[in-house]
Amino acid sequence: MVLAERTRPESALHPTVQPDPLARARLSGDGPSEAEIPTIAAWFEDRPAEEVVAWALRLFGSGCPLVCSFQNCVLIDIATRIDDQVEVIFLDTGSHFVETLAFVQDVQARYGLNLKVITPGADADTWPCGSERCCEFRKVLPLDRALTDRTAWMTGLKRVDTPARAHAPVVGWDTTRGMIKVNPLARWSHDDLARYESDHRLPVHPLRGRGYLSIGCSPTTRPVTPDEDVRAGRWPGSGRTECGLHTA
Ligand code: SF4
Repeated sequence: MVLAERTRPESALHPTVQPDPLARARLSGDGPSEAEIPTIAAWFEDRPAEEVVAWALRLFGSGCPLVCSFQNCVLIDIATRIDDQVEVIFLDTGSHFVETLAFVQDVQARYGLNLKVITPGADADTWPCGSERCCEFRKVLPLDRALTDRTAWMTGLKRVDTPARAHAPVVGWDTTRGMIKVNPLARWSHDDLARYESDHRLPVHPLRGRGYLSIGCSPTTRPVTPDEDVRAGRWPGSGRTECGLHTA
């Protein structure tokens, strides 16, 4: 499918409702404070993802990049319908599947993405792939550096992903980084995601059909069987369920 076939939902471009008046009043300021976030989160709890994304991109502009693992491109599809120059950050750990890197290229070409690929610093060499602090040096610290001077960041995090994410707000406060974190898909189920991909005929990560339902780095990801949890293949045998990006 080519870009010209995509349609822009009017509801996404012109949200019929506006968030908390405090947030609306600060459109030209620094954005809402930490204390205002719960009110905004409550406002958006039942709103469509398109409205959440539109609010964030209009309020924060380039101060709110979309951080994407490229397991799918649902949030990219939603965000680029609203702002086709939204900055998309991909953390290239150096250990991704070749299929993931190919998918990044495909999606970048399809959408003409304003893509920023972040690589680890030299400090990562001390921690080989899969070691205890590998994620910290290949994901967390590079993201921290990429988010310096930003006001907010947006992710495709879903509550159904892990127990630790079960109460993730649609709009929250990232205490570690001291900034707003926007999770427009927080309330979505795995079926919601698949339905959006199908309805909008989105490209699908090439490993999905081979049993990789949650896809991270190649040394620490395996496919899952039909009776396993979607994320059972991440860091298998280690007891880990998170890389640290979403622990704030
Ligand atoms: S997911 Fe695995 S290989 Fe990738 S950064 Fe984390 S520990 Fe390292």
